[in-house]
Amino acid sequence: MSTGDLERQLGAYVEYLRDMGVYDLFHRGDPTVLLPEVSLEKSSESAQSKLTETPPAPSRFADPVQHLAAASPPDFPDISSEFPSPMAKPPSLDALAPLPTLRIPAADRLAALESIRADIGDCTRCPLAYAGRKTIVFGDGDPNARLMFVGEGPGADEDASGLPFVGRAGQLLNNMIAAMGLKREEVYIANIVKCRPPGNRTPEFIEATTCSQFLARQIDVVRPEVIVALGATAATYLLGVKQSLASLRSHWHTVRGAKVAVTYHPAFLLRDPRQKAEAWKDLQRVMAEMGLVAPKRS
Ligand code: URA
Repeated sequence: MSTGDLERQLGAYVEYLRDMGVYDLFHRGDPTVLLPEVSLEKSSESAQSKLTETPPAPSRFADPVQHLAAASPPDFPDISSEFPSPMAKPPSLDALAPLPTLRIPAADRLAALESIRADIGDCTRCPLAYAGRKTIVFGDGDPNARLMFVGEGPGADEDASGLPFVGRAGQLLNNMIAAMGLKREEVYIANIVKCRPPGNRTPEFIEATTCSQFLARQIDVVRPEVIVALGATAATYLLGVKQSLASLRSHWHTVRGAKVAVTYHPAFLLRDPRQKAEAWKDLQRVMAEMGLVAPKRS
């Protein structure tokens, strides 16, 4: 197998694990590769001088990145707790601001959404602004929708068109919506992040938590009865939990006054169509809650 094939297979497997709610993945390489040949015990001498005294064998540090990692002074203060680690538990959207007690009248909701879009502007609040984003994908659908779908973030098609879920995963989402007896125009669709992560990678903690304030405001305007979180990333940042998708799928949650159901992301269902039956069970639970009836098959 070529290196390219192996990388693609590994990439697909990592994406699969993420869809299953497993995102804490670590590369367990040979730890000795990154360790300089010095004692890491503290002493009166600086680590740097120890490094100069016993320089590592050049062959082991041919890679400058490894060399830099090896040369980090071992007595740097540990400030990691001051920054949210990418593995940190995110805040729930409920934690951002209290849910407004007054609902925006139905006739004013479109204008209210437009004003959120205007507040976002040509956003540079997170690194995704500088990572090749073409369009900010705000959201799409009925401002008075009873049902909202939340995905992870725009892909290439969405970045090009400015609309969420218009690529292959979007076509499957359209079919899922139709199977529930609804039209796409009758629901509201948004994402955790509004800018495409490069290479469609999972949004970083800082990207998702920076952007989610706008999603919270969209939810507060639309006030859907039910939100369907599509995949682990949507569930994680909507609910502020880090649990397996399996455990989250099995019951109802609430966020910003809406009931939240969790199901598989359509992109995952495209990769593993055997799980469509399970996703359909999740959607049927949503339909029962909302009194929706599936259209008769012709
Ligand atoms: N995947 C998502 O999570 N969102 C989109 O808008 C498209 C694909």
